[in-house]
Amino acid sequence: MKGRIHSIESFGTLDGPGIRFIAFMQGCPLRCAFCHNPDTWDAKVSVPYEWTPEELLHEVLKYRNFIRKGGVTVSGGEPLLQAQFVREFLRLCKTEGLHTAVDTSGAVFTPDALAVMDYCDLVLLDVKTTDDTLHKSYTGMERRNNKMWFDHLKTIGKPIWVRHVLVPGITADDEHIKDVARFLCDYKDIIERVDLLPYHTMGAYKYKEMGVAYKLEDVPPLSQDELEHATNVFNSIYEGATE
Ligand code: SF4
Repeated sequence: MKGRIHSIESFGTLDGPGIRFIAFMQGCPLRCAFCHNPDTWDAKVSVPYEWTPEELLHEVLKYRNFIRKGGVTVSGGEPLLQAQFVREFLRLCKTEGLHTAVDTSGAVFTPDALAVMDYCDLVLLDVKTTDDTLHKSYTGMERRNNKMWFDHLKTIGKPIWVRHVLVPGITADDEHIKDVARFLCDYKDIIERVDLLPYHTMGAYKYKEMGVAYKLEDVPPLSQDELEHATNVFNSIYEGATE
């Protein structure tokens, strides 16, 4: 069994606690309008690494001293498209005593994907939008699987970090932010952290290179003031709610 890996990062600090080794898996079933990694979408393009779980672990262990207080994160693309590989890789990481995380959109809800949780300490889970109608046009897929992931992780008591991208004119208005906050209140007992991420345009050039239309061409990045406002609006609901 080989994993198709888009890229690796040996000193990641954003995708889970501490300094982490991050493997970005190739392939994603979503087409989020704001995605800054469209080069990870196509599951079949050639990739720099096609490794067995053992080979990827071998790479990880070169950085063991640096990541011993952090861990390993499997991201993407959508890592749960290669769930059997990821499960075996995380199992090997656990035998080495490493903290493990999966960074997922929650778009893949299959028995194999659920089984990855056996060896996953933390899930970084996206909320694209809580608006069912918008979800389809905004990401290319229905919202149902994402919601089922939230429910499943609550059932098994798995800690999560939630990520939500704020796009001006789409997800950054007050009512949308309040809806997301209300939704997340139901999962407070497993949520360790919520990151509201400002939309940026740093990936736009990749669309040009790939000859793919960029849906948010005219949308400006979210400003610092807008982010602070959004955070206050979110906290007015989320921090105000009791667990
Ligand atoms: S889930 Fe992530 S990688 Fe996939 S399209 Fe959305 S932002 Fe891009």
